[in-house]
Amino acid sequence: MLLNPFASYKRITLAAAKKDYYELLGVARNASDDDLKKAYRKLALQHHPDRNPGDKQAEEKFKEISEAYSVLSDGQKRAQYDQFGHAAFGDGGAGGFSGGGFEDVFGDIFGEFFGGGQRRRQSRGDDLRYNLAVKFEEAVSGTEKKIKIPRHGHCETCRGNGAKPGTAPQTCPTCRGRGQVAFQQGFFSVSRTCNQCQGQGSIIKDPCTSCNGAGRVRSMHTLSVKIPAGVDTGSRLKLRGEGETGPVGGSPGDLYVVIQVESHPIFVRENLDILCDVPISFVQAALGAEIDVPTLDGKVKMKIPGGTQSGKVFRMKGRGVKDVQGYQQGDQHVRVTVETPTHLTAKQKELLKEFAAIGGEDVNPMSKGFFDKMKQLFD
Ligand SMILES: [Zn+2]
Ligand SMILES: [Zn+2]
Repeated sequence: MLLNPFASYKRITLAAAKKDYYELLGVARNASDDDLKKAYRKLALQHHPDRNPGDKQAEEKFKEISEAYSVLSDGQKRAQYDQFGHAAFGDGGAGGFSGGGFEDVFGDIFGEFFGGGQRRRQSRGDDLRYNLAVKFEEAVSGTEKKIKIPRHGHCETCRGNGAKPGTAPQTCPTCRGRGQVAFQQGFFSVSRTCNQCQGQGSIIKDPCTSCNGAGRVRSMHTLSVKIPAGVDTGSRLKLRGEGETGPVGGSPGDLYVVIQVESHPIFVRENLDILCDVPISFVQAALGAEIDVPTLDGKVKMKIPGGTQSGKVFRMKGRGVKDVQGYQQGDQHVRVTVETPTHLTAKQKELLKEFAAIGGEDVNPMSKGFFDKMKQLFD
């Protein structure tokens, strides 16, 4: 499976009659799960049939926003919707109030209405974290990595329903499969989790021996992860629904891949900028030169003016890292270090002494200034 959490949307709207799910909830297309949840809660509270008895318009609106939320809160359905619009789910729309996220927010709303929170919350698989080390260049240019994560998968023996092959889970007689039993509290009908089936709606008389009736077993899962160009240490990629498999009927958690970028022998990265040290000879520093500088795109020529001091930093604009969205690009900062020559031949030593004699030791502008300062300090 190929996942790119930063993929941009491509949408084809075929049926114009149906309202856009994002517009219905009044959120941006890149809204986070939290934003969606907040927007839905607000609208659901406003249009809930219990608050608007007999109001057909409110009821219709409530249905629409609930459908929108049930799709957008489910990572897989949202991706399908982003790509194909309503066409992803045929004429009938996505329908159905399924998915753990929906149960979550609905539970909260009922909690607010009834001050209870007795409504069943369908449990969701745990989120998982995977620390992934990538090479410096891979972080800059992007790559694809295969990772192995230990997690629960559907039990093959019972196909995930937890019942011994040849048998089937039976509908719970107490709640007739609803998972909840209703009772009257004042004006309201309140639901609580069914005790007999623990809210599952079904009972397993003959549990599957491979998974002890849990419907899932632990196994190694290989996943291909697309690392977008521009990630840095600490970047977190969220892979919806790739976390721990939920218990029977629950939705899976998410997988967070946390990036750790390995160090580079030449480059140091600071956000989008690249820093590097380049040695030059003292002759190049004194006379000026054109030197080869390593960059992310290979060697590049850089001019150094005559009289360059050691430690001087030159900026190469636009030679840094592009950010994940591809909007910005950093610079490369090249710090030159003047190397003092060693292992001089007799001839070179002679020439240097002559060089010093011609110039005079105390006429060098930097050292003159320095010795002046020293004089002021100590004399
Ligand atoms: Zn099983
Ligand atoms: Zn039951």
